[in-house]
Amino acid sequence: TTNTEVELIGKYEVLPMYVPRQKFSHKGEFGHSLIIGGSYGKIGAVTLASRGALSAGAGLVSAFVPKCGYNVLQSSFPEAMVMTDVDDTIISDIKYSIEPTVIGFGIGAGTNTKTINAFEAFLKENKTPLVIDADGLNILAKKKALLKLLPENTILTPHPKELQRLVGEWNDDFDKLEKVKAFSKKHKLIIVVKGFNTITVMQDKLYINTTGNPGLSTAGTGDVLFGVITGLISQGYNPLVAAIFGVYLHGKSADIAVEDYGYQSLIASHVIDYLGEAYIDLF
Ligand code: AMP
Ligand code: MG
Repeated sequence: TTNTEVELIGKYEVLPMYVPRQKFSHKGEFGHSLIIGGSYGKIGAVTLASRGALSAGAGLVSAFVPKCGYNVLQSSFPEAMVMTDVDDTIISDIKYSIEPTVIGFGIGAGTNTKTINAFEAFLKENKTPLVIDADGLNILAKKKALLKLLPENTILTPHPKELQRLVGEWNDDFDKLEKVKAFSKKHKLIIVVKGFNTITVMQDKLYINTTGNPGLSTAGTGDVLFGVITGLISQGYNPLVAAIFGVYLHGKSADIAVEDYGYQSLIASHVIDYLGEAYIDLF
């Protein structure tokens, strides 16, 4: 269609985006990611996202979860710091005492009215860059007025169902992308359209990823991607680069991991464990 710019993203497109780590670096230079989400039975999503953010290179990661998530996170991921909601099982009041570089919201959060209200109150105050996934997207779809409260260039990472809830039904892939472009323009958002050949959309620009494989069709891989993108913004990558580079690294990690695990046995934790190999491939 007219005005659309399309770029295929492979190793040679991400190399100029990649910032190598300096010898005298300190964790304070790589920012503090705050991951907000989880509910009873869905704390694992927060663990995966937090691990994804730190393994992508964030300096510090804090998680904000309902009380039931405290012990889970502290024992499953000791590298993360944990703050808790006043509620035992859901997010009901987002209050924290840190100054994060970037905030990721939504994974495993559910769409309870209390959580929706807490997210709305948070958005009214928030000026920190945002990444939103999963139930964060479902909340936006339920209460579209919240879209106006998102900072410019907030990143949304919908899978097909979540995208449909946000932009409505589409007829074919072209129609889908037209709808996403219009949505991105209208709300000044970056949309990562997940699936085979994930496409990052910013207004009229489309970035088509070339890494990744069907081994990723398994629980929790989206939570990892959300964490990786958050961790990249934390380090200073701008949101568009973080989305494009994050999708590339996530897919590349899965491409390397699948050689050891096969398509059927690859799980989301492997994608985290192989992020280092995806980085090393850029050296
Ligand atoms: P989610 O559905 O939120 O867990 O996200 C799934 C993740 O796996 C996204 O990053 C998708 O792009 C990726 N994914 C799922 N299926 C495939 C596939 N067949 N080929 C490549 N990537 C996939
Ligand atoms: Mg998901």
